[in-house]
Amino acid sequence: MRLTRDMFVRNGLDLCANAKTVLERRYLKKDSDGKLRETPAQMFHRVARHIARAETAYDENADVRKVAEQFYTLLADFRFLPNSPTLMNAGRRLGQLAACFVLPIEDSMEGIFDSLKNAAIIHKSGGGTGFSFSRLRPKNSMVGTTGGIASGPISFMKIFNTATEQVKQGGTRRGANMAILRVDHPDIMEFIHCKAANAELNNFNISVGITEAFMEAVRDDRTYDLTDPRDRRPVGTLNAREVYAALVEQAWKNGDPGIVFLDRINRDNPTPGLGEMESTNPCGEQPLLPMEACNLGSINLAKFVAADPGSPGIDFDALKETVWTAVRFLDNTIDMSRYPLEAIDRMVKGNRKIGLGIMGFADLLFQLNVPYNSDKALSVAEEIMGFVQDESHKASLALAEQRGVFPNYEKSRFAGDSRRAYRNATTTTIAPTGTLSIISNCSSGIEPLFALSFVRTVMDNDKLAEVNPHFEAVAKREGFYSEALMEAIAGAGTIAHMDDIPEAVKQVFVTAHDISPEWHLRMQAAFQKHTDNAVSKTVNLARDATVEDVRKIYDLAWELGCKGVTIYRDGSKENQVLSFSTAK
Ligand code: UDP
Repeated sequence: MRLTRDMFVRNGLDLCANAKTVLERRYLKKDSDGKLRETPAQMFHRVARHIARAETAYDENADVRKVAEQFYTLLADFRFLPNSPTLMNAGRRLGQLAACFVLPIEDSMEGIFDSLKNAAIIHKSGGGTGFSFSRLRPKNSMVGTTGGIASGPISFMKIFNTATEQVKQGGTRRGANMAILRVDHPDIMEFIHCKAANAELNNFNISVGITEAFMEAVRDDRTYDLTDPRDRRPVGTLNAREVYAALVEQAWKNGDPGIVFLDRINRDNPTPGLGEMESTNPCGEQPLLPMEACNLGSINLAKFVAADPGSPGIDFDALKETVWTAVRFLDNTIDMSRYPLEAIDRMVKGNRKIGLGIMGFADLLFQLNVPYNSDKALSVAEEIMGFVQDESHKASLALAEQRGVFPNYEKSRFAGDSRRAYRNATTTTIAPTGTLSIISNCSSGIEPLFALSFVRTVMDNDKLAEVNPHFEAVAKREGFYSEALMEAIAGAGTIAHMDDIPEAVKQVFVTAHDISPEWHLRMQAAFQKHTDNAVSKTVNLARDATVEDVRKIYDLAWELGCKGVTIYRDGSKENQVLSFSTAK
């Protein structure tokens, strides 16, 4: 069965060509000959039915069919989508529904290879894994049992990378990894340079785990201690500014390493009694305890613009309803997911973290006539995310009344506070929505558009051209639309220097490279203020940005209360995911 435009219309789904390609490739059921066995509408029914089934665990008279209908409508209207593994695996044999995992790596051969095996199983199901390599003894330490010499964290990262590469061939999608090394680990300098030096680390994002003590040492231009992870004894010192300069320069060269502020992440750890958060998932938005997983889901804000075209606004009533249904959906997902390990199952069901976020933010701003790089956009961000955060907490509180608080509640920092007697230890996370945004035909996460028209590489090789529908509509309405102009825009990526386009349109339809890095970061910080977990955001820099520009961004991320930062300087990686359609 090949999907035709007619089929989507018949099924009442409004899918664009790119969504169709993505769904056909990896999401829809196929038989052993590779023939499609379901339509996108059937996929949404499969997911909705499966997730609704959780209701019976809490109420034997639950109207599962009605809840399934409610979930289906949410998905089929593209108002909310759960993370990709839920779409792929719900109601199917694999049954693993979470996108984000963090696995511990113990300082022993058994520990390392257990973790490797678990990561492979998670990748096979479409989940991404984050690891802290900080507990591994440094390179050249003694190995007690053999009298040999330890090879250190970076050599083990290569093994994880190779395993990821192999699983990729047969899995649902490319496995992704995050490696974090604490800034006080003795191998930190090798780590900072490891991606530049090793092409075989291409399945890793890397981030340096920054501590408060380190940032203070940078500020005061002091040295700081490196410690042996086995006994926390100091084994050397480095100059903090030199280390900071090295990581900034390396990030300028090729985007890695990012940084995560470990102390800040742990200040927001809802269950410190259960352990420390030492890593995030691959894209950085979800800090987790070792052996913890999280289901994410994203609301498409482009669908919540109130109808009045004279003065467009946000339809908060509809948004509230969607937040409440989405929280219920994600809480159900925890029960319906099959986790690859008993220990993960226990941890996930103990904390019941969910990560509700948003996508289509740039599209929303287009519809509201608000430039992304403006104070007004920051206040829209805070208003919307504040609302989503608040309503998701209320929804979680209400769920707890019916279903009970999360089992580790008494061990959490909410214990004894009836206003925070939640069903879920966290409710909000802002994901990149790399694929979800293609399926929903909206801008991804909280990112500005990369370009108003561009070529996207999906699933490794397919190249797809896209023109932003809001821009196209305005161009037609204002009478400056022409095929030739759209092609010119696809080549240039931006309209900033085009004389034929009205000034007011140029101000609103800004793209990633029209927006200064500071604005990118201010937007990340605005969202972080109202997010329990973290925010996925790439701060884009022009090709000619300097090392000093990168440093300023890292400093600002610290000052503005972000939990981490990832930058990308145009052209600094060989296989850029998004590119303009003609080379500049
Ligand atoms: N992820 C992954 N492999 C991928 C893309 C994503 O493992 O190729 C995981 C990773 O943990 C990431 C999370 O899924 O942080 C969410 O990514 P995104 O929102 O882009 O996923 P989507 O649900 O849109 O596919």
